[in-house]
Amino acid sequence: MTIEGVASDDAEATAGDFDVIIIGAGPAGLSSGIYAKRAGLECIILEKGVPGGQVLTSPNIENYPGFPEIPGMKLMEVMADHAKRYVDIKEGEEVLRVRGGEKFEITTTSAKYTSRAIILTTGSIHRKLDVQGEEGMTGRGVSYCATCDGFFYKGRDVVVVGGGNTALTDALYLHSIGCKVTLIHRRDSFRADRHLQDSITKNEIPVVWNTVVDQIIGDQEVVSVKLRDLKTGTTHVKKTNGVFVAVGEVPSSQLAAELGLDMDAGGFVKVDKTFRTNVPFVYAAGDVTGGIRQIVAAVHGGAAAALSCFEDLMNPYYRR
Ligand code: NAP
Repeated sequence: MTIEGVASDDAEATAGDFDVIIIGAGPAGLSSGIYAKRAGLECIILEKGVPGGQVLTSPNIENYPGFPEIPGMKLMEVMADHAKRYVDIKEGEEVLRVRGGEKFEITTTSAKYTSRAIILTTGSIHRKLDVQGEEGMTGRGVSYCATCDGFFYKGRDVVVVGGGNTALTDALYLHSIGCKVTLIHRRDSFRADRHLQDSITKNEIPVVWNTVVDQIIGDQEVVSVKLRDLKTGTTHVKKTNGVFVAVGEVPSSQLAAELGLDMDAGGFVKVDKTFRTNVPFVYAAGDVTGGIRQIVAAVHGGAAAALSCFEDLMNPYYRR
């Protein structure tokens, strides 16, 4: 099915020409790869790091059907192994540039590829607090990944900032491994699922409500945070050894912008219910498209995008 011998617009040879190239190997990308390849499309997945995406940092997943309770890292290992039965995953290849044209040209850190279609599953990255001390103390007390770094804080004081599913899951995880956890949340109620809220109460994890972190204080490592009560305006300094930031995600949509994809105000790629974007032969799925950022949703989106891609390449009802 792949058309051979397509030359790029410069002298550099392509490392491969494919029906579709999937960018990002999180749940959406892996699912896309399985569905695309099983539909008979020639494809590869390009992944700048290792397969798994954000789920790798989830200590425990309890809502992915078929797996009542599984660490995020384990679930993604299973999913990636499954995908590798079908599709080649180029790990450690970051996509630097994507160009449209007769064919898409994709330049990575180590090669150049061409394809007839692209499925963008680039996910999202951790939102930062953007407060004084955060950047300088990252890796020295400030962390965005409880599973990765929690171990170092066993028996020590940590704060978790945020009120969503990630913050509460992280707080429970850190508590379970023996950290002395305090949750800091900017409002007076959580947006996290009820069962997580109940677990926080059951485990007697203290919550500081209506409060934001104004500053992270430390020299070689974090020693305290300056907190501000949003109701009273008063500030106080709380001693802590670690700050786990869990305040949401920002879409990784730079490539989407290069491709001219429509995005919403938050930078999430707009797709229709078939996961087609506004640009023909470009599809997107998973966290980069926003919506309910759940593994099941990403897996669904990835599969649907691959099937839409198959439909367009095999039975095109419009032409570029
Ligand atoms: P989220 O749901 O967007 O929650 C972000 C939290 O951070 C909110 O409580 C928000 O406060 C707070 N926040 C945002 N900016 C802030 C700032 N500058 N300073 C202080 N607080 C700030 O993000 P998430 O928890 O990472 O979850 C992302 C997605 O993954 C969600 O769809 C979530 O359901 C999903 N997820 C699911 C699970 C699970 O099902 N087990 C686990 C993890 C994540 P407000 O509430 O006031 O807006």
